[in-house]
Formats: sequence, C-alpha cells, structure tokens
Amino acid sequence: MNEAELREQIVRFGRSLFERGLTPGNSGNLSARVGERYLMTPTNSCLGTLEAQRLSLVDRQGRLLSGDPPTRENFLHLAFYDQRPSANAVVHLHSVHAVAVSCLADVDPQDVMPPITPYYVVRVGRLPLIPYYPPGDIELARAVGLLAPSFSALLLANHGPVVAGTSLEAAVNTIEELEATARLFLLVRGEKVRRLTAEQIEELRRRYPQP
Ligand code: ZN
Repeated sequence: MNEAELREQIVRFGRSLFERGLTPGNSGNLSARVGERYLMTPTNSCLGTLEAQRLSLVDRQGRLLSGDPPTRENFLHLAFYDQRPSANAVVHLHSVHAVAVSCLADVDPQDVMPPITPYYVVRVGRLPLIPYYPPGDIELARAVGLLAPSFSALLLANHGPVVAGTSLEAAVNTIEELEATARLFLLVRGEKVRRLTAEQIEELRRRYPQP
C-alpha cells in the first residue's frame, strides 16, 4: 500500500471508529509505517473528521516532516515501531469498556482479562497492564517499549488500550476485539465464568499462529 492509500485508510478507519463511539471527542490516535517514516493523526484532531493531506508525517524520532503537528501521544506509537519490527500500524483508543477495565484495582497486571472467547485468545492473546503515568510522560513510552517486543496489545492503566498490527486493518480489528471482550468481561464479572482451558488455548494457538 502506498502513502496516498495509507492516508485514505487512516481517514476511513478513523471515521468508522469515531462514528461507532469507539473513542470520544478528540481522543484516540492512529499511525501507519511508510518505509522509515510514519503517518500519524494530528494533535487535537477528532478521528471522525480527519483530512488525508493534513495527517502528520514524522521520522523515527517523531520530528515533523510534513502536515499538522502529530498527536502528543506519538511516543506510544514510536515505542512500538522501535521495538517491534512486524508493526506496520498502531492504534490507541479511549474506548469506554477497555478504559473501565484499565481502572479496575484487582486485575492481574500480567494478563488483565481472562480467556473467555476464542476470538479474544486468537486476536489479542495476553494483555499486560502498563502502570499509570500521566499522559505525555516519557516514562510511559519507556514502559511500552519494554513490553512491545513480546506483546502487540497493551492496556495503559486508567487510560486505555494501544495495539500494534501488521497492517492498519489488523490493528483496528484487534483493538475492536479487545474492546468487545472488555465489555463482555464487565458483563460477566461477578458471575461464575467458564474460562477456556490451557488445552483449548494451546489448540487455538496451533490453529491460528500470530505474527
Ligand atoms: Zn490516550
């Protein structure tokens, strides 16, 4: 996919995510790799009304090459690109149910949500919790960079999910699965839940290996 097509794809996915209520106001940001450069959604932009020609084009250090200034959360995206060579796109949302789960006190920080559906196991797998840092804190980038080689999806405590994918479509599909599972998790919380067993998870990983 060339740069012009990627720009159109960012606009299209941004609008789709916003119109379905998956990130409110001007929250959330998307990016895609273009060789050694990165297209990102601009700071203070609403995902519902992005313009292809105003998207930020930045280098590996986050320096602006063209377009509007990038999202202030650009370092989250760059940490993934630095540490995860298979990442061609990164999506970060403030989707309500995943944010709700990110605020729960009594979850396992190594793996926040239980394996309750095969779709979650295949698309997301394990979901570690990154400790809380103020938005924009460079320590948040460092914490993300440490886990990015091993995990394509992370949950930022009291903040929201961030997901890397081999394509923008893959990253969007994964973060939507994560949000849907967060909603399910909140619905069944407090009930006796039948989790997938270790054998069932192993079989899924064999059938659907992840990049
Ligand atoms: Zn955020």
